[in-house]
Amino acid sequence: MLDLVLATRNPGKVREMRALLHDLPVRLHSAADFPDAPDVEEDAPTLEGNARKKAAALHAHTGLPTLADDTGLEVPALGGRPGVHSARFAGPQADDAANRAHLRRLMQDQPDRTARFRTVLAFIDGGETQLFEGLCTGRLLTEERGHGGFGYDPLFVPDGETRTFAELSPEEKNRLSHRGHALRAFVAYLRRRLSAPPSP
Ligand code: IMP
Repeated sequence: MLDLVLATRNPGKVREMRALLHDLPVRLHSAADFPDAPDVEEDAPTLEGNARKKAAALHAHTGLPTLADDTGLEVPALGGRPGVHSARFAGPQADDAANRAHLRRLMQDQPDRTARFRTVLAFIDGGETQLFEGLCTGRLLTEERGHGGFGYDPLFVPDGETRTFAELSPEEKNRLSHRGHALRAFVAYLRRRLSAPPSP
């Protein structure tokens, strides 16, 4: 049985991962199970840097294999912003609604409305850190639609859809989303590792 720690306190992310791992011999834990774990400041200049930093800190604390994620919305018309600053786009105390309002203002007269979400996962188990990426491309609306999801979901329509992420069910969003793609890439890696014969 493999013990795996997710470097998140978000119960939604833990649930999503548990569903993907249901047929593997993995015992899943989260940062919430380690109340003394250090809080990690997400101040790296890249998604990769933050994911590595979070995974390394929790791995150092628990000694267990650890997976961490970081996600950003990348908008070509804004030079790739908000990117790694997505959670605090409208300022240090900004909430999701303030970030969306800020994005709508900046995008008001923009003809190029393409955007993508990018998730980077970092997995550390003592050896070399493994990185996994998930992308979801789409476009930004001028007005919000839907009440599901979180963050920028009410403004984002993934390619091949007419509905925003906030109008999709959680299952529909997981099938298309950046985080879903990245998690499935990690689970495929784990599946290969767990089925490989032990090295002599
Ligand atoms: P985190 O790395 O998952 O904490 O995400 C950082 C920020 O990106 C969040 O605060 C959200 O604003 C945004 N974000 C991440 N994932 C999503 C998503 O699936 N939909 C919409 N916004 C997201």
